Amino acid sequence: MQTRRKFIVSLGTGTAAMVTTTAIADERPATARPTTKLVETERSAILMGYKEDATKVDRKKYAKYQLGQTCAGCFLYNGKKGEADGLCTAMYRRVVPTGWCIVNRPRKPWNVVKLQAPRAMFSC
Ligand code: SF4
Repeated sequence: MQTRRKFIVSLGTGTAAMVTTTAIADERPATARPTTKLVETERSAILMGYKEDATKVDRKKYAKYQLGQTCAGCFLYNGKKGEADGLCTAMYRRVVPTGWCIVNRPRKPWNVVKLQAPRAMFSC
C-alpha cells in the first residue's frame, strides 16, 4: 500500500528526473541541428516552390509572392545577420537568406501573437 508520504516523495523524484532530462535535452550538441542545406532541385523544395533567389520565383504560379519577400524576412527563419544561411523551422533545413517559399510569413507585428489585457469586469 502506498502511503501519502511515499507518493509525495515519488512525485519529487519524478520531477527531478524530468528536470534532468530537460537539462540534457537543452545541451544537445550543435550537430543535432540540421546542417544540410536545402537545394532547389529537391522534391520538398520543388513542392514548396523554394527558390534560392527570391527574385526568380514564378510569380504567375505563386501569386502570393510579393517583391521584397525573402527567407531573411520570414518569421520562420532562424539565422543571424551576415551568415551565409540559417535554419528554416518549417523545412527544418538550412536555407539562404535570399530564398523564398510558399510558406513565407513576413515578420510583421500582426504575425506575433500578443496577449491582450483582460477586459474590465465592471465598468463605472
Ligand atoms: S518558410 Fe520562410 S524561411 Fe523557410 S524556406 Fe520558406 S520563406 Fe524561407
